[in-house]
Formats: sequence, structure tokens, C-alpha cells
Amino acid sequence: MNTGALQMPRNELQQTVRQLARLVEISVTLNSTLDPTQLLNFIIQTAAEVLDCETTSILLFDEKRGELIFAASSGSDPEKLAQIPVPLDASIAGTIFCENRPMVISDVAKDPRHFSQVGEQLQFRPQSLVGVPMRIQDRVTGVLEALNKREGNFNDADAKILSIIASQAAVAIQNARLVQALKTANDELSRADKMKNDFMAIASHELRTPLGVILGYASFLQEDAQGELSEHATVVLNSALKMRTLIEDMTNMTMLQMGSSKLALTPMPIQPIIQSVCGEVAATAEAKNQQLSMHLPVKELYVNADREKLERVLMNLLNNAIRFTPDGGQITVSARGLRGETWLEVKDTGIGIPSGELENIFRDFYQVEDHMTRHHGGLGLGLAIARGITQLHGGRIWAESEGKDKGSTFKIVLPPCNKPI
Ligand code: ADP
Repeated sequence: MNTGALQMPRNELQQTVRQLARLVEISVTLNSTLDPTQLLNFIIQTAAEVLDCETTSILLFDEKRGELIFAASSGSDPEKLAQIPVPLDASIAGTIFCENRPMVISDVAKDPRHFSQVGEQLQFRPQSLVGVPMRIQDRVTGVLEALNKREGNFNDADAKILSIIASQAAVAIQNARLVQALKTANDELSRADKMKNDFMAIASHELRTPLGVILGYASFLQEDAQGELSEHATVVLNSALKMRTLIEDMTNMTMLQMGSSKLALTPMPIQPIIQSVCGEVAATAEAKNQQLSMHLPVKELYVNADREKLERVLMNLLNNAIRFTPDGGQITVSARGLRGETWLEVKDTGIGIPSGELENIFRDFYQVEDHMTRHHGGLGLGLAIARGITQLHGGRIWAESEGKDKGSTFKIVLPPCNKPI
């Protein structure tokens, strides 16, 4: 049993208990403060208070400059101090840092390692000093120093207390810096995301007017011209129509992201919606010799839907199924009621989706194939729009696939809806 503490005089024992209690409080605050400036200030203020001294400083190692830099200091001019780098090879702090050990000095001015520039520039006379390395595991990251004890000199007990504060402070500073770096990265991402959304909104708006003119004149030409000229007009018209779909996708995505996409929900049977979308894509599937079939219940299955928007979702899924399924493949659309919900499925026998990509494909602009080498075309917005609209309907959508060349199935579940009376 360690009886050392019991043999201490009563007043010393009381002071040790007070210091220990203060160290616990400090530890709690250190672990819960994430603002770097606030944290550094807290460390120096509390170290000065616990050691009852004139000033304390944190010097952190600057890897690029190979010097110690004052990160915070109590009692002195911190901004001025930050401008005075402290050399590793000609300073007490540098010695503590390089030798990775605490130092207690009773007359700093007489020490040959003393770096006098700091005291001279700040008109501060250092007398006694205790300094300890700040470590994270085995790596020394800086030095915590206390100067000029108010009564008497610093001793080994002071060095021990300062070491406890320093070891916790080093980790807390690193955590705060990591959180700060994450916040900065996050802010940059948000800025980039906003720029992307602004660009989409402006581009889709500005492209719509000239495209309208192209579409108008191309259809006049197609109607009036004859022979080869009419064929050329048809090519222009078809290309312009494709472009209109891309622009509509950009507009839909922008509206979904800004939260300005509103639905006009009405109870309606799902069967006619599926039949109409399948009718629209039938020719494209036929051109690829694909078999497009529907499995629909005879009894009307009601959903609460915005017809135009829900058609867009199914159209995006079907267009993908056709594009990502080789000639001669099969595409099946089915619907069924399950526990009051409506389950829709678009299944193909195409190229399939790797398991690691099943969620990613719902992110905007995401495409499994590299965009430089891909040969399927598209903007990568179809599924993001499909998910956005499905969620606005209170539903959910996901993809399933056994892997490469094993086909894909997209499933949508829409909430219960009763047939109106
Ligand atoms: P786009 O089709 O314009 O690239 P989407 O958001 O509709 O954009 O789809 C994103 C990606 O998901 C596609 O590029 C493709 O890699 C993958 N994908 C979508 N549907 C299928 C499918 N039926 N089979 C295989 N891959 C698919």
C-alpha cells in the first residue's frame, strides 16, 4: 500500500486534492471543446491558474519551417509572440522538444540555452520556468511552458502536473484541428455543390429558349420540305428532342434539390400509368429486338400519385433497362399489392450492377462506367430524379442485381392508398 499521501502535511494534502479535482475538470473541458482557439486559450489559462505563475505558453512544431511557433500565450501579446519563431537548437523549449523530457529551471536568464529574443521584444523578464513536451503517443508535437512562479520556484511536482495537462491537451488540440479540417472540407464541398446547382439551374434555363426555337423551325422544315431535306430536318428534330429530355432532367434535378418540386397527388390506378409508359418505349425496345412484357393484377391497384411525375420515374427506369440490356434481352414491368402498399418492379436481363454500386447509382451525375470511356450516353441524373420523386410520394426505391451480366431489378414501394368512393 502506498502511504506517501497519508504522510503529507494536512495543508499539502488539501492542495493536492484540489489540484487533482481541477485536473479532472480540465480533462472534461479539454475533451468537449472543439474550437481550436478556445481550446488553446483554455489550456494556457488553466495551466497558469493551477501552477500559480505569471504566464504560460503553448509552442507547436511547424513541420514546414522546422521551428516552434507560439500558438497561444497568457499574459503576453500573443499576436507579437506568434511572429517570433523559436529555433530548436538554441532555446530551452527547443531542448525540451528535441530531448522529449520535462525541464525545471530556476534562473532562465543564466541558462546558456535561453532564447532571449522573446523576452526582449515583449519586455518580459523570465525568471523561473517549467516546460514539458506535448506528445501524441510517441510523437512530440509541441511544448507547454510555464514562467515565473508567483511564490518560490517550480519543482518536479509542478512538472508532473503540467505533463498531465500537456498530454491531454496534445490530443485535444489534434482532435480540434481534425474537426476544423473536416469543417473546412465540408464547407468547400457545400460551396462546390451550390455552384453545381446554380450552374444546372442557369444552364437549363438559358438552353431552353434557343432549343425551343430549334424545335419550332425543325418541325416547320420537316412539314414543308421534301425528300432529302425532310430527312435532314427529322434528324435535327430528333436530336433536339433528346436534348430537351436532358435539359428537363437538369431542371427536375435542380427543383428537387432546391425543394421546390411540388406534387399534385390524386388517387389513381397504377395499371394505366404502366401501360402508357410501356407504350411510349415499346418502339425503342423493339428496335433492339427486346421483349417488353407487363405483369399487372386484374384488380385495380390504387396509388396516390402525381401522374406526370410517376411516369417520369418509370420512364427513367425503363429507358435504362433498354439501354443497359443487350439486343434480344427481356424487360419485365410488374405491379402487385402487398400489405396495403404497392410494389412495382422493372426487371431486365442486361449488364447488371456490381454490388458496391447499388446505392451509388442513385447519386446525381453518378455513372458506373467511367464517363470518358462509356458508350451508353446519359447525364447520370435519371435515378437521382427517380429517387427524389419516389420519396416525395412517400415511397422508397432501390436496385438489386446478382452482378455483372446477371441483369438488374429496380423496386419501388408506394404507400397504401384506398380507392376513392
Ligand atoms: P444515366 O443512365 O444517364 O447514366 P442514371 O441515373 O439513370 O443515369 O443511371 C446511373 C447509372 O446507373 C448508369 O450510368 C448505369 O451505370 C447504372 N444503371 C442504371 N440502370 C441500370 C440498369 N438497368 N442496368 C445496369 N446499370 C444501370
